[in-house]
Amino acid sequence: MPEPRILILGAGPAGAACAIGLRRLGYGVEIVADWRRFDAVEGVSQRVLEGLRHAGLSNALEQAAIPARRRVRWNGVDQQLNEECLLDRRLFDRALRDDLKQAGVEVIEGRVGGVDSDAQGHRVVLDGGQVLHADFLVEARGRQAPLASDRLRGPESVSLLNLWQGAEGEPFSAVESLEDGWAWMARLADGRCYWQISLDVSTSNLPGKARLPEYCAQRRRESALVSELFGADAWQAATVHARSSTAILAGECSGDNWLRVGDAAMAVDPLSGNGIFQSLSSALQAPAVINTLLRRPEHRALARGFHQQRIEQLFLRFARIGRDFYAQEQDKAGQPFWQRRQAWPDLQPIHLPSDYRQLQVQQRPVVRDAFIEPAEVVVSPDQPLGIWHLQGVPLAPLVRGLQAGSTLDQLLAGRSASEQIMLRSWLVAQGYPR
Ligand code: FAD
Repeated sequence: MPEPRILILGAGPAGAACAIGLRRLGYGVEIVADWRRFDAVEGVSQRVLEGLRHAGLSNALEQAAIPARRRVRWNGVDQQLNEECLLDRRLFDRALRDDLKQAGVEVIEGRVGGVDSDAQGHRVVLDGGQVLHADFLVEARGRQAPLASDRLRGPESVSLLNLWQGAEGEPFSAVESLEDGWAWMARLADGRCYWQISLDVSTSNLPGKARLPEYCAQRRRESALVSELFGADAWQAATVHARSSTAILAGECSGDNWLRVGDAAMAVDPLSGNGIFQSLSSALQAPAVINTLLRRPEHRALARGFHQQRIEQLFLRFARIGRDFYAQEQDKAGQPFWQRRQAWPDLQPIHLPSDYRQLQVQQRPVVRDAFIEPAEVVVSPDQPLGIWHLQGVPLAPLVRGLQAGSTLDQLLAGRSASEQIMLRSWLVAQGYPR
């Protein structure tokens, strides 16, 4: 087969991680990259830093590692929590491009205007008129990616991002619950101040675009936390950018010659604080899925199912994490904003209780040697996609052996002491009697 032309649309963390993963598999990759139209500051956890390192995005990692004190004012309680790292999205996005270039990915600066696709390939037209052709397309334009249909949508939400320049100082971030929404705020060491309020679209009664800065200034003035943290800087004029922050799960996340990754596949509520993490998660699995779609046509359905199920599971997990954080706010529980979000997407707990008797051995798709292949995994109500192995030790033979009546001692004979401890602890965590 001739070398397929792979084109990625969008050079955010998902597009970049996917491109570098494909380069590692030996594919030539082009990426169309348009700059974000607004400034933003985002908060990330250690998990994101690990994800960036794992994805080979070392320049981006450097830009994401600004440690900051973190305050949380929620349900009437004020807490100083663990550190969060801050990133300046403009610098972060630039660093992603440096990573791409260093990895040998061809970065095409431009804005995608239109895409025509069929089973033979894709024709992509940039705003300047340039036309690109591809055999395989990765949609990674984030929330701006056109959506044919959505499978699941959270309560419609809008976030108003305010940015202004204050005095230099120690970086911090904070989150605060409000009667009709919540606000996240941060200051970078160079004095750039950032405040973002998230509201329900149907109940927020927002003024027109021209009056948004005045509206936001008033809302900042009403917050004791804002004046405590920013001091007199809080009243500086700010630029305001409105963006949707509704949680959206895309309907179909793949075809035989295309794939959606990152926010284009599933965009989570920013309250979960996991947007970059989830965008990296879906992008890191994508190269093996694409490799299978291109090289192993007999496993195409398996690869597509693998991608879709993981995206849906990730989406629901973060939706439920967000719901539980909303549910911690009891003082305002009667307000429409909170009522809607405390019950969405459902009332299922994030983790289902373990019950050893419900473990089953089933065939599921897994990633093996950069391809999606079927393998025997252990499925439980809490892990419906199954667990294949623990640090290289397959679990299916162990569970099948126990179910067939072998003793644990018999099944663990020949394993190293550390493997025995690991497997016993895993079984106990599944509800196996000690
Ligand atoms: P993006 O980062 O959006 O990247 C898409 C890229 O495609 C961009 O570079 C864009 O310019 C480009 N693009 C778009 N259209 C075109 C086009 N037509 N042609 C060419 N290129 C195009 N996550 C966190 O982890 N922490 C936070 O604190 C946080 N705060 C958030 C606050 C708000 C209000 C919102 C809405 C999201 C927040 N997120 C946060 C989520 C995070 O920004 C995203 O999940 C993450 O950036 C998604 O990565 P991505 O690569 O999928 O998409």
